[in-house]
Amino acid sequence: MTITIGDPSTRRLLQRVAVERATDLELVAIEAELSVELALLRGDLAANDFSDDEPTVRNGIAYIEHQLEAVARQAERRLRARRWMTAFPGDPHEDFQTRFDAMRRVDIVEAIQTLGVPLKKRGREWWAICPFHHEKTPSLAVNIEKDVWHCHSCHRGGDLVTFAAERYHLNAVEALRFLEEIIDVPGVAA
Ligand SMILES: [Zn+2]
Repeated sequence: MTITIGDPSTRRLLQRVAVERATDLELVAIEAELSVELALLRGDLAANDFSDDEPTVRNGIAYIEHQLEAVARQAERRLRARRWMTAFPGDPHEDFQTRFDAMRRVDIVEAIQTLGVPLKKRGREWWAICPFHHEKTPSLAVNIEKDVWHCHSCHRGGDLVTFAAERYHLNAVEALRFLEEIIDVPGVAA
């Protein structure tokens, strides 16, 4: 499977990346836009007024509901990360944004392999047996141009920090600290 624009799984991946990288304000805007879209589609369905066929409208509704859930999860994750930072403030000069940005410059393929998940190059992507469930053929793909990973089976995905967080059941800040311990981050003194 390759990344093709217009392909539903690609759209989901891009949407997920957009949600993860959105600022808080953008996240609110995305949620508002999706809610309006959802209300319109539900209205169409209730009024029996749609240009597409009914299954298409229902699929559209399910898709938007799925996206809204992703937005809600992201908001919740951020809230948890902030609570965690408030509970354990650490060094007040710790600049998390800079450190998260620096982590995005890390070679994601090398880092994921350092975390014990071997990857094989196939086409433009790197593939692995997904560590988050049982499978025999690799469905976890790493896109080095976008520095993201995505599993086509379980639909988990995100950046390197998300990967470490999922793998070791950490929140974003814990995962960042963990990665900083074990990986050389370009431009950051050890
Ligand atoms: Zn998976």
